[in-house]
Formats: sequence, C-alpha cells, structure tokens
Amino acid sequence: MIAKVIVDVVHSEVDKVFEYSYDVADGVLPGCRVIVPFGNREIEGIVISVSDISDFDTSKLKKIKRVLESTPALTPETLALTDFVCQTCFVPKASALRLFLPSEMRKGKIKERFVVYYSLKKSIVIEEVISTLRKSAKRQIELLQYLSENGKTKSVFLSEKFGRSAVISLETKGVLERTEEQETRSPYKGIDANRKEITLTDKQLQAVQSIQTTDKKVSLLFGVTGSGKTEVYLELIERTIKNGRTAIMLVPEIALTPQMFKQLRARFGDNAAILHSGLSAGERFDEWWRLRNGEASIAIGARSAIFAPLENLGIIIIDEEHDGSYVSESSPRYSTIDIAKFRANYCNAKLVVGSATPSIESFYSAQKGEYNYIELPDRINKKSLPKVEIADMRKEVRKGNNSYFSSILKAELEDCLKKGNQAMIFLNQRGYSKTVVCTECGHVQKCESCDVSLTYHREDDSLLCHYCGAKYKMITACTECGSRFLKYGGMGTERVVEELSKLFPNARILRMDRDTTANKEGHFKILSAFSERKADILVGTQMIAKGHDFPFVTLVGILDADASLYFSDFRSSERTFQLITQVAGRSGRAEETGKVVLQTYQPENNLLRQAIAYDYKGFFNQELSIRKATAFPPFTDIIRILISGENEQETLDVTKSIFDELKIVNLENKSKFRFFGCMKAPIKRLQNKFRFQVLMRIDANNYQLIKKMFEISDSKKTKKVNVSFEINPNNLT
Ligand code: ADP
Ligand code: ZN
Ligand code: ZN
Repeated sequence: MIAKVIVDVVHSEVDKVFEYSYDVADGVLPGCRVIVPFGNREIEGIVISVSDISDFDTSKLKKIKRVLESTPALTPETLALTDFVCQTCFVPKASALRLFLPSEMRKGKIKERFVVYYSLKKSIVIEEVISTLRKSAKRQIELLQYLSENGKTKSVFLSEKFGRSAVISLETKGVLERTEEQETRSPYKGIDANRKEITLTDKQLQAVQSIQTTDKKVSLLFGVTGSGKTEVYLELIERTIKNGRTAIMLVPEIALTPQMFKQLRARFGDNAAILHSGLSAGERFDEWWRLRNGEASIAIGARSAIFAPLENLGIIIIDEEHDGSYVSESSPRYSTIDIAKFRANYCNAKLVVGSATPSIESFYSAQKGEYNYIELPDRINKKSLPKVEIADMRKEVRKGNNSYFSSILKAELEDCLKKGNQAMIFLNQRGYSKTVVCTECGHVQKCESCDVSLTYHREDDSLLCHYCGAKYKMITACTECGSRFLKYGGMGTERVVEELSKLFPNARILRMDRDTTANKEGHFKILSAFSERKADILVGTQMIAKGHDFPFVTLVGILDADASLYFSDFRSSERTFQLITQVAGRSGRAEETGKVVLQTYQPENNLLRQAIAYDYKGFFNQELSIRKATAFPPFTDIIRILISGENEQETLDVTKSIFDELKIVNLENKSKFRFFGCMKAPIKRLQNKFRFQVLMRIDANNYQLIKKMFEISDSKKTKKVNVSFEINPNNLT
C-alpha cells in the first residue's frame, strides 16, 4: 500500500507530498502521524491519504517506519482545512498542519501519562497464598488483605503503605495483576462550579431560536455589555450537545478563559475542555486528546482553539468578535473568522459572532444581509448603562491640577470607596512611565536595537523595550549630555497605583497588566481576588476591559481616552470606540447604577461623544462612510509586504526589486488599485533589523491578484533579508 505523507519540515522546497509504502497490517490511516525515513534521518510526518497505486516505481519507495498512534491525530476535516490554510495564508503544508497539533505532541516530547494499578488475580484465593508465606512476611499479608477488600489500587499508594518490596515479591509470585491506565492532567481542578439557575428572557430566547432556524451560515449577535449574550451562547451549546453534536467557544483573551470555562464547567462538567497556551504542556496534551477521542465535546479557548480536533461540529461561537487577537500576527497569519466559516461550512454548523461593538466588517456584512442579525438592545433587568461623565483635562490643568486624576474622578473614587464599592481604573500603558526624557537636551532614551523609546519599570528599576523585550538598567544620567535632570514622560499603570495609594492610603489596590500576569495563573488569581472583594481598586491595561463581570464595581475611570486616537492606523477610531465601550461596560453590573469618568484633552471629539452615548450605529455609519471615501477595508484589502534585514542597503535593494516588479502588476491592473506605495515602516528599526514596506490597497475579493503578488514577493527573499506578506494585518507598525 502507498501513503501520501507530508513531512514535518517547514521549507518551501520540501513543500510537497512524499510517497511511502507500508503493509496493511501496519494500521496506517489518513490523518495518522508516522515516522518516516527522510534523507539520512528519520522524521515525523502526517499521512494525508492512502491508496494502492502510485505514479512511481513502488519497489523504490521507502517504507513507513512506525505509526505513532492508533487513532489518527487528524480528522478528514482538518486535512481539508489544511489546504484552505495553505491557499489563503500562503504557507507550506507542514506549517499549516502544525496548527492542528499541540506543539508538545510533535517530536514526541509529551506523552500520555500512564498510572500502574495492581489487583489480585481472579483465580487467587488469598488464604491459600497466605499459607505459603512465612509468618514474618507481615506486610505481604497485609497487602493481600487490603487488595481483597479494596480491589484495584494505584501502585504508588501500595508501595507507600506496604513497601515496594512487598509489592514486588507478590508480583513475582504471580499473585498480582498489573494494569496501566491513562490518567489525564486536568487544568483548573480547583475551579468551583456552582451553576447559577437562570431562565432566559424572551429576547434571549428569540435570539436562540433565530440562530437555530436561520438559513444563513453566520449570525451576528449585537448586544450591549450585560445584555445576556453569554447565557445565549450557553443555551445554544446545550441544545447542540443534546443533538449529539459538538461545539467550539472562543474568547479573545487568555485572561478571560478561566471565567468562561468556569461557567461552561458549571453547566457541562467534564464535557468541556480548555485549550490555551497558559496550560502546562501535559495538560494541553490531555485536553486535546479528550476532545479528539470524544470524551469532551465542547472546546473553549482563545484564537487557536478554532483548530480543536472535534468532529461533527454543530456550533462555533466567537465572543467579542471584534477583538484584534482573532487575527494571528505570526505566520500562518490566519483570520479566525475565516477558519470558523470554513469549518461551519464543512460541518454544516452554525457560526455565531457576538459583540457589543462589532467590527466594521461584521456589522457591514449584517447590514448587507449576508449575516443573520440579532440585537439585544437592553441590559438584563432593564438596568441602565452606566452614565459617562467627561473630565476635560485642559480645564484641570488651567485650574492648576497637575495630577493624573481630575477632580471629578477623585471625588467619585472617594465616594465609591466610602460606600464600600469597587472601582476599576483603566490605562493602556504598563510600566511606570512611558518614556524617560532629559530635561536639559530633550533626549528620549531609546532601545539599542529598535527605533522605539524605552519604558521605565520601577518594580525592577529598569528600562524596557516593549517591542523586543530588551531590558536595560535604569540610567542615572542622560546618555547624550550627561545631565542628571531626567523626567518621566507619560504615565503607566505602576505609577497610577503609586499615585492612588498616596490619594487613598487605606484602599487596597491590585494591578493587572502583562507584568503582573506573566505566570500561568496570574490572570486568574488577580481576577479571583478582585471578585472576592479582596481589593477595592483594580488598575489595569486593556486586560481589564473585556468580559469580566464584577457586580460590586460601580465606578470606572478611563485615564487617557485619547491615547489611541493618535495612532495613524486606519482602525484607531474603531479601537478607541470599542475600548471605551468595553471598559465603561464593566461598571454597574448588579444593583447599583454604575458611573464612568472619561478623562480627555479633546472633549469635543465626535468619536468620544458617540462612545459615551453608546451610539454604536451612529459611529458605524460615520466610520463606514469614511472607509468608503478613503478606500479602506471592508471596501478594499490592505496588502503589506514588510521587508526587514540587518543590512540597510541589502534590505533596501530587496525592497526596490519587489517594488519594481509589483509596479508592472500595478500598471496592468490599474483599475483595481486604490493605493500603491513604498516607504519606511512606521517603526524603522526593530530588533536590529531595518524595516521597509510596500503598501497597497486593492478592491476587495481579488484573490488571484493577491496570490500573484505573494509569489513575486516570496521569490525575492534572501538568506539575509526577510519578506513577510500580510493581508489586512491588525498591526501596521
Ligand atoms: P454579556 O455577555 O452580554 O455581557 P452576560 O451574559 O454576562 O452579558 O449577562 C450579564 C449578567 O446578567 C450576568 O450576571 C448574568 O448572569 C445575568 N443574566 C443573564 N441572563 C439572565 C437572565 N435571563 N436572568 C437573570 N440574569 C441573567
Ligand atoms: Zn540630555
Ligand atoms: Zn527593542
């Protein structure tokens, strides 16, 4: 028999299917991982199909060495999806295949964990055995008695209680039956899972029914924060499972997963498995196999859980669908929604995308009637959305208030704390200060390998590059002029905590950002502590913006609402609107009506006005007309070819040759192009590499044209100059 195999080597020259022979008895099936000879070594590969004919001389084919597991790791669907990923993300097959397997499975680093058990052999009568033993063999006798009373027991337990030698002696006498069983390493074992009994409101039920009965593939659930979207998701999953099908539920941030997982656990028990990078390798491996072999039929996780090895999918839910984390920023640069659409199509499953602030693309699809559109316009129990007050920071400065907190925010904080409620303070900048500036010569400290200013982190008295991770000792004098007069420019979360503890010495303050959540359960711990009211104020970056439901939070402060408006990215308005709405939505989720104080230097800004009025549709209409007038997505696709290398001239040469060749394509397709240009990337140097880009906007749905441009740019890669091809990237820095 012949197997077509993709070997686990990511290289365009190896990006083809290799044939190997095997014997029927080997149990080779499509989707199996196998070990094959390759060149002069042995490597892993995946069988994508089997047949009994070959185009080659079969006697010359090499043989498959070994099959790695009896259940094929990959399903027929994932094999089809592999092709889709290769075509749309322009990556070799091996690279696409890696998306489907937990990384620890490759190279056999992690295996199932087996536990040894002993029991008495069936034919054994213990009195007879005891009569053959010496009287002094007390522990063996006790062990026999224990097993006859308790049955099968873990070997480690027996060795500990009766001694290893007693176990071995009885085993050699042939009295004991030894078995091995797989044991799963389960994440979040300590999670308490009390299910809240809830009867869906009429609106929620209508949403569920609409999603179940629509003949459209995708449903958009547009519901304000606190409108009960999560309960709609849970009901849909329950109905899907009852029908014998499986479900995937995606949340944007790893920080959100434990909370959502808790709810899924409470409702579905072990039937829910969690997949995310914060788990230990062993846990991830076990959760993956629980899904693969049908022990669990609900997968929950961040972006990569869209590749969960489930068969017979009935529903895919993407919560907070507008979130940037759903687009992969490293190769393969897939869009989670596109993968979800493929899987939903393949399995004839429902796809539900939900948000309080849908992406412009999704809302536009709903408006055009491509998506089934459902609205949950009110909060549960008709609770009003928190009232947002604008604090004009220019006035504050004029009044002589130079602190980070407007007088109104200070007053509200005081009131909130006095009442024993909780507050959240949001600022999208971690560290102590954004920059360190010399007051004599104005020099801003920069990273040695990047064209980026350094952030001061007081906790370890260091300067950190947030782009490459480089860490420097804090300076005592300006590196340009030697002056000792240094100033902290802009504030970060560390500094906010410091200022707050000066203002409110008795308040208990927690901070949540990338630095405080670096270890595995960091998010979970901080969020649990805050929800158990072990702190009064939670200060954080956008990590605190999403999804969390804290009933005692009655005040949210947004310290620097304008910050993201200064970015030149075409999505910056959309991002700002989303962020403000999401953060504001954290306030007043239970009895008391919440308040939000939004600090800004441009209070007349239209976008901020729309955000505080929760006027999503007003914002959408305005933004869509801007996108149309300026030819940005969803009306066009943005293609960015990023060329980077350590040698500036070589990098520039490659850039030029790509640009020149694409120029011809551009001229041939003039009517489809809205923009075509070549320039330095906004961050000119990163990790010692100079960066240039060719930037294009072409009318949407021109796949063949995009493919041609990919092939041109890919052919220009050299050993020293890297070329990456991005379609609608989230980040244009
Ligand atoms: P969203 O996901 O839209 O932000 P949630 O689903 O988290 O909203 O719901 C907000 C709050 O309302 C939660 O505390 C939830 O338990 C509660 N809730 C949701 N649906 C109902 C319902 N039908 N009856 C009572 N409480 C509900
Ligand atoms: Zn200086
Ligand atoms: Zn750097």
